[in-house]
Amino acid sequence: MFFEICTLFPSMFEGVFDDSIVKRSREKGLITIGITDIRDFAADRHRTADDYPYGGSAGMLLKPEPLAKAIRAGTAKHAQYNPKTILMTPQGEPLCHRVVEELQPEEALIIVCGRYKGIDERIRQHYIDREISIGDYVLSGGEIPAMVLIDAITRLLPEAIGCRDSAEKDSFYDGLLSPPQYTRPEEFEGLRVPEILLSGHHANIERWQKDQAQAITRKRRPDLWERYQHKDINTNDLP
Ligand code: SAH
Repeated sequence: MFFEICTLFPSMFEGVFDDSIVKRSREKGLITIGITDIRDFAADRHRTADDYPYGGSAGMLLKPEPLAKAIRAGTAKHAQYNPKTILMTPQGEPLCHRVVEELQPEEALIIVCGRYKGIDERIRQHYIDREISIGDYVLSGGEIPAMVLIDAITRLLPEAIGCRDSAEKDSFYDGLLSPPQYTRPEEFEGLRVPEILLSGHHANIERWQKDQAQAITRKRRPDLWERYQHKDINTNDLP
């Protein structure tokens, strides 16, 4: 899978994809991450990529021309895979497990990171296939949201996680939060690992984990619990 990130801040991506699952997935050739610097497509010698908004509001906006050129260049790089263009924006649909699953079969994604007050609306109209938000708060730029999206998609790629089983036991996979987990030692600061996990009885352990997952989901996420009970984990009608 190819990810092409259009950004004004390429250096933010140094290091983040160099560890753990994402690093291994790159090494195995499961994913390739490219960076397109929007400033490379600016027309003037100051490499200006932002401008004042019409209507006199405060702040700056990403200018349409360099951004359009950057998106077109990113798209051309992966043209044979028919890439979709995703804009990271607080106005997008909330990112959740279902959205990650929907994007995972794509062969190439162009991910556009906004900055300042955002991007010119006409880019949205002409170039963007899907808009995604990572939550109801405003960050300074789309770079961290792009990292979140790439990490979440990569985790779900078959072969990305050594033992696929471990992704299936993560929160949201079956519509529930993950149950509590323990590692050695058996006793830590006066707290013992639940006896059942030491019993070696796999069927009982699984039942206990399922009960715990259900209890935690019911208590902490009544919205997820409601959908789980209706076996309707594919909808995303967040409050
Ligand atoms: N004026 C915009 C916010 C701009 S923040 C508004 O009120 O909606 C600058 C950029 O950061 C955005 O263009 C977007 O790319 C990114 N961004 C900020 N918060 C985000 C979020 N919650 N999810 C995804 N992207 C976000």
